[in-house]
Amino acid sequence: MPLATAYIALGSNLGDRLGQMQTALDRLTQQSVVVQQISPVYENRAVGMGVADPFLNATAAIKTSLAPLALLDLCLDVEGQLGRRRSRQWAPRTIDLDIIAYAELELSTDRLRLPHPRIEERDFVLHPLRDIAPDLTIRGRRVADLAAELPMDALTRCGFSLHAPRV
Ligand code: AMP
Repeated sequence: MPLATAYIALGSNLGDRLGQMQTALDRLTQQSVVVQQISPVYENRAVGMGVADPFLNATAAIKTSLAPLALLDLCLDVEGQLGRRRSRQWAPRTIDLDIIAYAELELSTDRLRLPHPRIEERDFVLHPLRDIAPDLTIRGRRVADLAAELPMDALTRCGFSLHAPRV
């Protein structure tokens, strides 16, 4: 399978948030997944979760030879390794990994929708994505334009950084 560029959104609002995000990147990295670029880390209040600790959010560009569903399985596996429990939809999470986009692919199946269906309404995805892929198009719109139309609400750059794991 040829290499595809894909974008992953990472979020954490439980425990050692930054450490878990770095571990997730480390575990995603393998022969078939190379992390190419990582956005700055942002902090955001938990949206729609009632009283909950704030999230750290970031995005990463990867090159992968995995097919989309195999990449999803890897993300779910890494979430499991990091102790993510799917107790309820909006529960706090040690790590959340979403595939934002995979090459130019548009897909809508029970297990996987690409590009991710809620990108346009999420400042905590669009702004870190704009940092690494301003010219990426999502459903026909440039990420830079989408981000400009959705100002940061409670989102701030927090000064933390993640590093691309060595292969
Ligand atoms: P969540 O609890 O928000 O992390 O949702 C995870 C579930 O959403 C997964 O089990 C996937 O089957 C499904 N899903 C659909 N599209 C995507 C996507 N683009 N990236 C990650 N998960 C997705």
